[in-house]
Amino acid sequence: MEATASISNDTLEKIASEVIECPLCKLSRSRKNAVPGEGQISAKVIFIGEAPGKNEDEKGRPFVGVAGRILDGALQKAGIERSQVFITNIIKCRPPGNRVPEDDERSACRPYLDRQISLIAPRIICLLGATAYSSILGGKSIKENRGKIIKRNGQEYLITIHPAAAIYNKNLRHVLEEDLSNLSKKIKKMENPERNSLLDYMDGQNDRISC
Ligand code: URA
Repeated sequence: MEATASISNDTLEKIASEVIECPLCKLSRSRKNAVPGEGQISAKVIFIGEAPGKNEDEKGRPFVGVAGRILDGALQKAGIERSQVFITNIIKCRPPGNRVPEDDERSACRPYLDRQISLIAPRIICLLGATAYSSILGGKSIKENRGKIIKRNGQEYLITIHPAAAIYNKNLRHVLEEDLSNLSKKIKKMENPERNSLLDYMDGQNDRISC
């Protein structure tokens, strides 16, 4: 008997075209545009926010409003190119008045996110805020694990704040920047463990010399 390998013919483009036409929950009737997410299949990091807002609903792209500018600023400071990562949301359509996504909306949308994650197979998934944290890891309060990397079923997750939380709070902007900068260091270390342990060692030597 021949072994049957399960070869997936799924693609990010196929998922996006299904999301754009998706009729699975009530948000499909109020949206202007669904927002599948965007980025590279080769992305090492997936960022997951809550849901599209007004600007995203108009443009069909994730994080293109005020919160998006804060995310972009933090990515830039951390030396992470937006074009190199994948950015999406727990649900792909805007809830009226930007309310928190309801359970039936999260469940209807979840298979799209799971397919995106399994195609990209990222090194780390960055959960932006409480909705992403509770939907993916069942966490209650972002405060308990913010800034930490948690491993669940072989996948690493960084838990950080939602960029919208930093709109009126400069301190939170620094918190996001710090978390993304640690994420960037972690990715570099994963890519080149030997070089980085040498650099850590040399840093230590320099510390000693300058003391
Ligand atoms: N907030 C989100 O959670 N996602 C977006 O795409 C935009 C704002």
